[in-house]
Amino acid sequence: MNLILMGLPGAGKGTQAEKIKEQYNIPHISTGDMFRSAIKEGTDLGKKAKSFMDEGALVPDEVTIGIVKERLAKDDCKNGFMLDGFPRTIAQAEALQAIMTELKTSIDYVIHVDVPAEKLVERLTGRRICPTCGTTYHVQYNPPKQAGICDHDGSKLIQRDDDKAETVKNRLAVNMEQMQPLLDFYNEKGYLVTVNGDQAIDTVFREIQSQIEK
Ligand SMILES: [Zn+2]
Repeated sequence: MNLILMGLPGAGKGTQAEKIKEQYNIPHISTGDMFRSAIKEGTDLGKKAKSFMDEGALVPDEVTIGIVKERLAKDDCKNGFMLDGFPRTIAQAEALQAIMTELKTSIDYVIHVDVPAEKLVERLTGRRICPTCGTTYHVQYNPPKQAGICDHDGSKLIQRDDDKAETVKNRLAVNMEQMQPLLDFYNEKGYLVTVNGDQAIDTVFREIQSQIEK
């Protein structure tokens, strides 16, 4: 089963990826991991990617696409794979279609873990961190015993600038703008499956299972 996972930050995509990986025994391929292993293996494309990253430059599409192709051609992808963080643009999605044709396979499902933006803001702005020991809390989902205070050392918890409402809203808007054309692209191809991500983790997973096992 060849899958692509999509979802905004905070939608719980990573958690579902872990469950899918376990259930269907297919590798979870994130863009970051893919780059890291290509660089570690010292492939030509890995070296190219590294030279751009060392300069703080964006890795060009042709290099990224080459790395994806090498990764998907590996033995552990024979029974399927799950892509996460790729494609990010229509150009990359089209390149992926060409890779699939070349490898004589195709994408089966694009799973969109859908959570309303206001819920994501709630999830993402609730994070608090202990400046002393680094423990992460969430005001709603994982609160400390005493509000605003670290359980371990009594330090006053802080909210990182990245987790403040305005920053979070902007980040979500940018991500949505990037993701929507891809959802439309895959919807037209009939691959898109949308699951309600605003439910308990296991309920979301069962919904994914029932959709992809149809
Ligand atoms: Zn602490």
